Amino acid sequence: MTQVSTTSTQGHVSVHNPTGQSPVVVVCEHASNFIPTAYNDLGLVGDALASHAAWDLGALAVAKGLSDRLNAKLIASGTSRLVYDCNRPPSAPDAMPHQSEAITVPGNVGLTAAQRQNRIDEFYEPFRATLAEEIAATSTPVIVTIHSFTPTYHGQKRTVEIGVLHDTDSRLADAMLGTASQYTETLVLRNDPYGPEHGVTHTLKEHALANGHLNVMLEVRNDLIQNAQQQDEMAGCIANWLSDALVRLKVESAVTCRE
Ligand SMILES: [Zn+2]
Repeated sequence: MTQVSTTSTQGHVSVHNPTGQSPVVVVCEHASNFIPTAYNDLGLVGDALASHAAWDLGALAVAKGLSDRLNAKLIASGTSRLVYDCNRPPSAPDAMPHQSEAITVPGNVGLTAAQRQNRIDEFYEPFRATLAEEIAATSTPVIVTIHSFTPTYHGQKRTVEIGVLHDTDSRLADAMLGTASQYTETLVLRNDPYGPEHGVTHTLKEHALANGHLNVMLEVRNDLIQNAQQQDEMAGCIANWLSDALVRLKVESAVTCRE
C-alpha cells in the first residue's frame, strides 16, 4: 500500500477512504454488532449478541480490504442490524426484527410507531443520507455491497460459498458470474442463499437501480472469512474479479489497485 487509509465516523455511520477515487462505492450495512447502551442489548444475552443474527461476521474486514485495494470509498453502518437493519426500508417489518432465525429479540417486540420512528431517524436516515451523498460525489458510481452469511441456517447446511446477488439490473452480476471460475475455486451461485424475493436488495434498489448505476451484492459464507488472512485473501480475490468485470463493462478507471 502506498497510502494510509483513513476512516471518518459521524454518529453511527463511517466512511473509510473518504477521498477514494474509484468509481466503486463499497457498502457494508451489517458491519457492526454494536448496540447503544440505551437499548440494553435489546434484552439479549450471551451468544446471540456476537452471532450472525447481530451482524455479518468478517464482512467489514473484507469490505475494507476491497476499499483499500481499489482506492474506493466504503460506507459502513456502526450499529447492529438488530437495532435497525440498514439494508431494509423503514416500511419493512424486519427493519427492526423481533425474530432472527431461532432467536427472539425481546427489545424489538411490540415497538410503538414512535419507537420505530426514533430508530429510523437515528440509524437508517443518516446511513441512507451519507451513502446517497457519497454516491452523488462519485462520477459513474458502481455500488458494491459486501455481506456474509452463516454456513448453517435453520439446521440446513448451505453449499453455496459466494452468492452474487442482483435485482432487476444484472449487468455487473452477469459479468462477475461469467468469470467466477477464473478468480475463485469456491462454489459461486446467482441470487443464493438470498435473492430479491427475500427483501435483501433494498440498498441496490434505493441507491443504484433508481439512478441506473451498475451494482452487485456479494454474500460470502462466513466460515471462509474467519481470520485476518482469509479476509485479506477474499478481499484480494473480489478486487481482481470485480475489476475485471468492470473492464469488461467498460467502466473507466475501475482498476486502481494500490498494491
Ligand atoms: Zn448482510
